[in-house]
Amino acid sequence: MYPCYCLFSLFLFCSYSYTMPIPVVSEHLRCLSPWNLALFLLCTSQQIQFADDMQEFSKFPTKTGRRSLSRSISQSSTDSYSSAASYTDSSDDEVSPREKQQTNSKGSSNFCVKNIKQAEFGRREIEIAEQDMSALISLRKRAQGEKPLAGAKIVGCTHITAQTAVLIETLCALGAQCRWSACNIYSTQNEVAAALAEAGVAVFAWKGESEDDFWWCIDRCVNMDGWQANMILDDGGDLTHWVYKKYPNVFKKIRGIVEESVTGVHRLYQLSKAGKLCVPAMNVNDSVTKQKFDNLYCCRESILDGLKRTTDVMFGGKQVVVCGYGEVGKGCCAALKALGAIVNITEIDPICALQACMDGFRVVKLNEVIRQVDVVITCTGNKNVVTREHLDRMKNSCIVCNMGHSNTEIDVTSLRTPELTWERVRSQVDHVIWPDGKRVVLLAEGRLLNLSCSTVPTFVLSITATTQALALIELYNAPEGRYKQDVYLLPKKMDEYVASLHLPSFDAHLTELTDDQAKYLGLNKNGPFKPNYYRSDLCEGDKESIFWYHLRPLPAVAAWVVPLYCSGMWVWSYRAACRGRVMPSRWLGPWTSSLLR
Ligand code: NAD
Repeated sequence: MYPCYCLFSLFLFCSYSYTMPIPVVSEHLRCLSPWNLALFLLCTSQQIQFADDMQEFSKFPTKTGRRSLSRSISQSSTDSYSSAASYTDSSDDEVSPREKQQTNSKGSSNFCVKNIKQAEFGRREIEIAEQDMSALISLRKRAQGEKPLAGAKIVGCTHITAQTAVLIETLCALGAQCRWSACNIYSTQNEVAAALAEAGVAVFAWKGESEDDFWWCIDRCVNMDGWQANMILDDGGDLTHWVYKKYPNVFKKIRGIVEESVTGVHRLYQLSKAGKLCVPAMNVNDSVTKQKFDNLYCCRESILDGLKRTTDVMFGGKQVVVCGYGEVGKGCCAALKALGAIVNITEIDPICALQACMDGFRVVKLNEVIRQVDVVITCTGNKNVVTREHLDRMKNSCIVCNMGHSNTEIDVTSLRTPELTWERVRSQVDHVIWPDGKRVVLLAEGRLLNLSCSTVPTFVLSITATTQALALIELYNAPEGRYKQDVYLLPKKMDEYVASLHLPSFDAHLTELTDDQAKYLGLNKNGPFKPNYYRSDLCEGDKESIFWYHLRPLPAVAAWVVPLYCSGMWVWSYRAACRGRVMPSRWLGPWTSSLLR
């Protein structure tokens, strides 16, 4: 009996430790008595879900046409779109930019944009964005004379908007050469792309690209005679994927990848796990200055904008259900509550559900409220959260929309059946009509509402863009061998630095620790002020501390853990911990560390 029990525990512990960073596992287990530990393992093992069935680079087709390739990997990129951000219409000219011969005022034709003549207009857009992106401008000033990106050849694939243009031009001002394509077929501001091309950036993007254009643009950025990229800045992982599949030799020169999105980061971790990541990568998505700002505040500001522009709905007294109370959900709920909406939440995670309760929201199952609600908003990053059954039971004029990354949250495909009639009533607004006359108002065909139907605040994007720029500088300047072929998070101190760059905009004044207080809290007066694990996502580990964290719980759980470790689990746990590795501050190169002094 006892050996069976041990084996069963071994299995449970393996499952658990493989999905959690070891510091977190250790902290949890350390506190438990053997009986509680067994109970805990039993409970948790039922809830653990492995993400291994998600898409993997290795599974992507290599010989299929571009169309099917993009379908398979790029649902988030080519299936989601942003139109409202652009002030130019893609339909004003039927000739594909690929067919046009265009040159900028300096005679260069090293770009492909909708219309180079819009450059002046685009320049004004960029200048407006610069006013709210003072941190990037201060980086430019700081680097005057010294060029921390001198020699860097950055190939980028992001949304091409006025805000990213400020980032791209900052990278150029710091010494980099850039070639850029769009990570989304509808999000390019044509006038901004024209302004970048006029300024000499090799940009290949326009609003309303076909899927074939999408990959062609990426290819033109990577495949250029006499120019080889040594850094990648990606949003969504499509560019990285393209280089892996088509030009693996390029990785011999690449010093690192900086990735911003949840999806792209997920793909990088999969590559790392499979031992296929051949260069270091920086996970910007999980930097506090991205996740706690972009996801939360950006959505808090833009959810109402997207809903108002499309539906003119009044929120006061409306019954709303928000699926998912993560960062995006919290932002949406705060905005809706402020306008007097009655907000219900659905959650799968008891912690987020409890947070929702404590914030004054009702936590319900979607089935329970679906007949009464006026608005349904998904923010889970999951799939099939709103099913055809839910849609069938909604009341007349119910508004349905999605704030998550891809268009999988609402089962829109199930609505494309003969008995339902679709009526396009406005741009991005469809009425889906049931045989009995009931209408459901579907926004942006279930794609990201705020990026599809409204603009997003520049200031928040400035915070993410600054983090991206610093990650590029750090990776580019790091001595060879410092970063292994793994995925890293920037240290907390860098997050604090990025935040501090944005404080002057609010005329905010930080309190300084006294020597006595610093000693009392065991902190350096100059930061970092919080440990790396200080945030709610449990995906961090500091390589330096893994060993000690590893040892701390041993006395309490020795009887259980030692034999298990001896049987090779240490390797598993260590790899799981490394999946969220935070680089120590002292690894920072001279340029980036000089910023922190
Ligand atoms: P998160 O992980 O913090 O939150 C998602 C929440 O959804 C979690 O609490 C999870 O428990 C819950 N959830 C998962 N499946 C569920 C289900 N079936 N029913 C109810 N709840 C469920 O993630 P986040 O930062 O809030 O991001 C959510 C999505 O929004 C992601 O896809 C992300 O890429 C996207 N995003 C959108 C924007 C935007 O501007 N619209 C900005 C950032 C991120």
